Amino acid sequence: PQVIDQIAAGEVVERPASVVKELVENSLDAGARRIRVAVEAGGLRSIVVADDGCGMDPEDAVLALERHATSKITRLDDLVHAGTLGFRGEALAAIASVARVELLTRAADADAGCRVVVEGGTRRSVGPWASPPGTRVTVRDLFFNTPARRKHLKGLAAEFGRIADVVTAHALARPEVRFELWHDGRPVLQTSGSGDRAVAVLECFGPDVAAALIPVAGRRDGYRVEGYVGAPRVARASRAWQFISVNRRPVQVASLRFSLENAYRHLLPARRHPVAVIEVAVPGEEVDVNVHPAKLEVRLARERAVAGLLYEAVREALADRDL
Ligand code: ADP
Ligand code: MG
Repeated sequence: PQVIDQIAAGEVVERPASVVKELVENSLDAGARRIRVAVEAGGLRSIVVADDGCGMDPEDAVLALERHATSKITRLDDLVHAGTLGFRGEALAAIASVARVELLTRAADADAGCRVVVEGGTRRSVGPWASPPGTRVTVRDLFFNTPARRKHLKGLAAEFGRIADVVTAHALARPEVRFELWHDGRPVLQTSGSGDRAVAVLECFGPDVAAALIPVAGRRDGYRVEGYVGAPRVARASRAWQFISVNRRPVQVASLRFSLENAYRHLLPARRHPVAVIEVAVPGEEVDVNVHPAKLEVRLARERAVAGLLYEAVREALADRDL
């Protein structure tokens, strides 16, 4: 089973940022209002994700680190349209198969917490442990037992950059949750959890870009688009400042990116890309999340209709503006 877990890990856990993504998604699924992410050495030395979510009782804590342990789906049908961010029950097991993992957790109504340690897929210890309510997962020495994986990584700064992108994407998609990100003991990002997307954008992008944001809003046929796009003067050299979420899941959907960029045609010089924070709401049954191992891509049943709405909403937002 260890080998199978390591193979599965190759799909889900490509780099430190994938670990952060899975852990943050678990915290959000657990109803956390506050999530702290602290990493060292680009996440290769350690990644800690701590939340104030529902926590786990001791049996579930042990199970959580085993493959196909998910509390989130009960029917096959749920697998396709999962409303939770996770649903396959393989992320924690996959991470634990390629790192040293400590899970410390306490359910809100429990008297004590529980600590489980798994290293390279082998359970090292389980027992009661003092813990505040919620869950804290510590992942040390990622890929210590799969050195070939380390070779695929970029430098520590680049790996940390991807981690920051993951946390930023979630912070923008969930303005009601307080996020903190630390790297080597230094604070990098902090959001207030105000619930207001404009505030989250300010906290993530800083005042200069925030001052150049234009609100976007559109709805049609049960679809809704809302968020902000940047005035052309704050366009970037890359697409790294484009954050799109579908039903609050940060995603890559090529057609939505095209719509966004298309709406700026003639407004931007070549190789400049607009800043954008866009949430797209579609009926849950029209989203298929089960197309990409890391759930980065989703398939939309009526993708063209949604892309068209996004295009029009952005065009409208940019029209009558003194750009
Ligand atoms: P999935 O998210 O696909 O269900 P994971 O391997 O990521 O699978 O997690 C396994 C299970 O562990 C989850 O279904 C959930 O019950 C539990 N779990 C993981 N992280 C947390 C957390 N931060 N708070 C509460 N429960 C958690
Ligand atoms: Mg998960």
